[in-house]
Amino acid sequence: MAERIERLAAKVAEAGLDWLIVSAPLNLRWLTGFTGSNGVALCPADPGHNPAVLLTDFRYTEQVAAQAPSAWQIAIASNDLLGAGLAEHFPVPDGGGDSFGTVGYDDKHLTVAQLAALETAFDGRATFEPLNGSVEALRLIKSDAEVEKIRAAAQLADAAMIELLEGGLIGRTELEVALILESAMRRLGAQELSFPPIVAAGAHGALPHAEPREVEIEQGQMVTIDWGAKLDGYCSDCTRTYFTGEVDDQQARIYDVVLEAQLAAAAAVMPGPTGRELDLVARTIIEDAGFAENFGHGLGHGVGLDVHEAPRLSRHGDTALEAGMIVTVEPGIYVAGECGVRIEDLLLVTADHSEALNSLPKERQLVS
Ligand code: ZN
Ligand code: ZN
Repeated sequence: MAERIERLAAKVAEAGLDWLIVSAPLNLRWLTGFTGSNGVALCPADPGHNPAVLLTDFRYTEQVAAQAPSAWQIAIASNDLLGAGLAEHFPVPDGGGDSFGTVGYDDKHLTVAQLAALETAFDGRATFEPLNGSVEALRLIKSDAEVEKIRAAAQLADAAMIELLEGGLIGRTELEVALILESAMRRLGAQELSFPPIVAAGAHGALPHAEPREVEIEQGQMVTIDWGAKLDGYCSDCTRTYFTGEVDDQQARIYDVVLEAQLAAAAAVMPGPTGRELDLVARTIIEDAGFAENFGHGLGHGVGLDVHEAPRLSRHGDTALEAGMIVTVEPGIYVAGECGVRIEDLLLVTADHSEALNSLPKERQLVS
């Protein structure tokens, strides 16, 4: 955690700021270890000289002391943290002067109202400037401990799916299937889910983010299930499409095309290529098979404390993959009124290639 302060401080200094306010809950957690619902961190550009301050309120006095390492100077504020609270607990300027200098904030996370409150509370003693995505950029590369947490979450989610499949799909409603998965994940130790499971049978599968319905799964359908567990704050994310019997040739072909695209794109995950290049690997296969209009989302995304985080693997993904990133590879084909197929794996980029963190088979699988 002290090392994380140093790395963020370097970015703050590079941007020409004196301080950076970190208020987004997941960024705060990554930076300080604190998981309470009300916290603000103040990271100095020069941690050798100025303290890193972590503000919260009375409710979290014990929790913050237990979670945040000693590198953080903890302050319990009685006012709004992003306003009078921060102004009251701001470290005294060097030499006792009146100005706190230039304070950065992330305008993706700080609201217009919060900025106005800060400006009122500081009353001209600080200048506020936006600096976006600096913590997110550090979160891109996972530490060994983070990798192990995500791996454990992925293995737990796999185990929950194996349990579900043992009980079968036919005759259960999509909602029941979602509930079984959820309770299995929780029983196996997940604190919560990465997101509510998507369970979509037959034509409902054409909706990439389908909500499970009170509709029974029938024989002879494809059923797409997208689910993930959250363990120690870290997410997993996986999708499989199962068969509940024979489907028509077109549907079977769609599955084979998605599988081919998924295998090719997953094989291309390694240090070097950008998200755009990887997206193109899968997209080319799907387009060449005649489904250019049916793959309307990106290939994948980073996963960590957040189930969707940087880097993006899509037409807009210009970040080149590096060892330590964890990304999904999840091409799909969706045919309105007919069916949908998506296959998603969670991959760790390693120094020489990549490694899947989940391990359920991807070949066509018949489930009763
Ligand atoms: Zn997913
Ligand atoms: Zn995903």
